[in-house]
Amino acid sequence: MTQIKLHNTATRRKEVFDPLDPKNVRLYVCGPTVYDRAHLGNARPVVVFDVLFRLLRHTFGAEHVTYVRNYTDIDDKIIAKYRETGRSVQDITAETIKWYEDDMIAGLGTLPPTHQPRATDYVRQMIAMIEGLIAKDHAYEAQGHVLFKVRSYADYGALSGRSVDDMIAGARVEVAPYKADPLDFVLWKPSTGDEPAWDSPWGPGRPGWHIECSAMARDLLGESFDIHGGGLDLQFPHHENEIAQSKCAHDGAFARIWMHNEMLQVEGKKMSKSLGNFFTVRDLLDQGIPGEVIRFVLLSTHYAKPMDWTAEKARQAEDTLRKWRGLTNGIEPSVKPASSVLDALADDLNTPKAIAALHGMSDPSDLLAGAALLGLLAPNMGRWTRPDAATVALIEGLLQDRLNARKARDFERADAIRDGFVAAGVEVNDTKDGQGWQVKPGFDPTKLEALK
Ligand code: AMP
Ligand code: ZN
Repeated sequence: MTQIKLHNTATRRKEVFDPLDPKNVRLYVCGPTVYDRAHLGNARPVVVFDVLFRLLRHTFGAEHVTYVRNYTDIDDKIIAKYRETGRSVQDITAETIKWYEDDMIAGLGTLPPTHQPRATDYVRQMIAMIEGLIAKDHAYEAQGHVLFKVRSYADYGALSGRSVDDMIAGARVEVAPYKADPLDFVLWKPSTGDEPAWDSPWGPGRPGWHIECSAMARDLLGESFDIHGGGLDLQFPHHENEIAQSKCAHDGAFARIWMHNEMLQVEGKKMSKSLGNFFTVRDLLDQGIPGEVIRFVLLSTHYAKPMDWTAEKARQAEDTLRKWRGLTNGIEPSVKPASSVLDALADDLNTPKAIAALHGMSDPSDLLAGAALLGLLAPNMGRWTRPDAATVALIEGLLQDRLNARKARDFERADAIRDGFVAAGVEVNDTKDGQGWQVKPGFDPTKLEALK
């Protein structure tokens, strides 16, 4: 079995991955807050952890890996959208989840996680967990709120390497009248007026964001599990808070390995809704950039490094994928992926190295098997490289015409067809067995019409 090593943000070391139970390898990744279309930055963890999911399935067997990615479907931003539009919260979240699945699963060719829980289906478990924290004196009620006592958990700040005193000095904490200590964070808050509310021992209210992930992970994966992932922007406070609550509720048990993807940036700044420097995955798909190309670009930088999206990267990715699809057309993948690709991925998910290994492959069967680990060259993602049946018939008819024209020494007609192919973006390879062809980026079939 391939030995997998992963960089654990919690220990700041690359560690050999040794699952708690190799028959049930468990991964939790924080999912989106569903009030709007996902932007390209949001797609980065989706694609990165999809490759980890594929690697784990390959290594331990597909049926032995459980991947949970949640939907945060109750949140102030969702309520704000309801206020703006007057549409119901259910309507907003259901539509956004549908978009997310269209863009991230169908669009980018990611495997659906084993479970995609919605926070609102787990409120009962959240309440139970909060009650347990109060009973153990790690939380308290104040003015309809329940707050977690940060100073009751000695290791608070260990994940992100911050001390509690630094947090206060840096004023990274919100002061509020109901907090006994400004560091304390909300587990439950009261709902007022028309805000969505659930009954609780502390009155009608709703959960805080952090407790949602802790409760869903506990319910679907157990108190201890193998890997917890998400973007680096979630490390503090979200993951720090998840750790504090879960470890206090469950006697020190929680995720063993923490993995954080670095940010997708725009001119040196994190792409985000709040900065307004974003474009959505749907924007790119609508511009005709294939999902497979987006995926390739995202994987061409190691997940732990910041990266930019550029049109040039997309162009190069498109060239490469077209070439690879041409080479592997009609070929079956080899039974096992080559060790060069597997070793690169097993080394802390080194996707750029895996892509470099694919570039070096001479056997198209190996290329296909290796690409599958990255979610590339899948048959259902390749429609964009293949012209429709009528265009294929036109191209093949013209190739035959060119052969006939040459035989008849009608060089004018043969050259016109050749020039037309160049103009339309069809590359013809004359081989001893006949004539192969492939379309190039920017292929324009209308330029072939005049040759008929
Ligand atoms: P959000 O809906 O903002 O909570 O984000 C959903 C996921 O996308 C989280 O795992 C974030 O860490 C991640 N994320 C948000 N912005 C970026 C970005 N610019 N680059 C990479 N990941 C991001
Ligand atoms: Zn989370």
